[in-house]
Amino acid sequence: MRVIAIDGPAGSGKSTVARAVAQRLGLDYLDTGAMYRSVAFACLRRGIDPLDAEKVAALAPSLDIEVAGRVTVDGDDATEAIRSPEVTKAVTAVAANPEVRAEMVRRQRAWAESRGGGVVEGRDIGSVVFPQAAVKVYLTASDEERARRRSHEVRADDVTAVAADIARRDHADSTREASPLHVAEGATVIDTTGHTVDEIVDQVIGMLP
Ligand code: C5P
Repeated sequence: MRVIAIDGPAGSGKSTVARAVAQRLGLDYLDTGAMYRSVAFACLRRGIDPLDAEKVAALAPSLDIEVAGRVTVDGDDATEAIRSPEVTKAVTAVAANPEVRAEMVRRQRAWAESRGGGVVEGRDIGSVVFPQAAVKVYLTASDEERARRRSHEVRADDVTAVAADIARRDHADSTREASPLHVAEGATVIDTTGHTVDEIVDQVIGMLP
């Protein structure tokens, strides 16, 4: 099984790079953030408090989540809805829930096993999900650059507000008890600030054994 693990904070360029690496190598790509967002989306839709750990833990295994291209949750298209500010806020508590993480990690491993590997992007891919990955990278970028990229994605004019939201999520993701965001052992840190997508993709592909 050949997995390329791409981790990093919000706006570091993970999704863009992971998708491009997968396309160049003819591999499948998995956005694990979309899986946590899907659970958060399902909570909000059912009126479950994202902080109610027991209810959220019971909900996660029952959900049918598809994140190939369009995102569907129990058959309903949630591609745009999982990027809403409400879901972005709620996902922090959902992703800190150890039982939700165990269920998502199980699904992520099954995804890779069924296709002999792929490019997997998230926060704990090189550290927890696939510690034996063929390539592990941790992408970063300056705070300004990350805020600018995310503002563009969410079509927000207020870069300062976006920067504050990124800082909130980074802090929560890095300080939570369950699988906190950190540079995995053996991972190569790549600062994407001021680099083109192609440059980073070349670097990642050049690391393949
Ligand atoms: O990558 P994205 O920003 O869409 O991820 C949304 C949230 O999901 C992150 O802020 C983080 O809390 C959580 N996440 C995680 N582990 C992953 C992927 C995402 O905890 N592997």
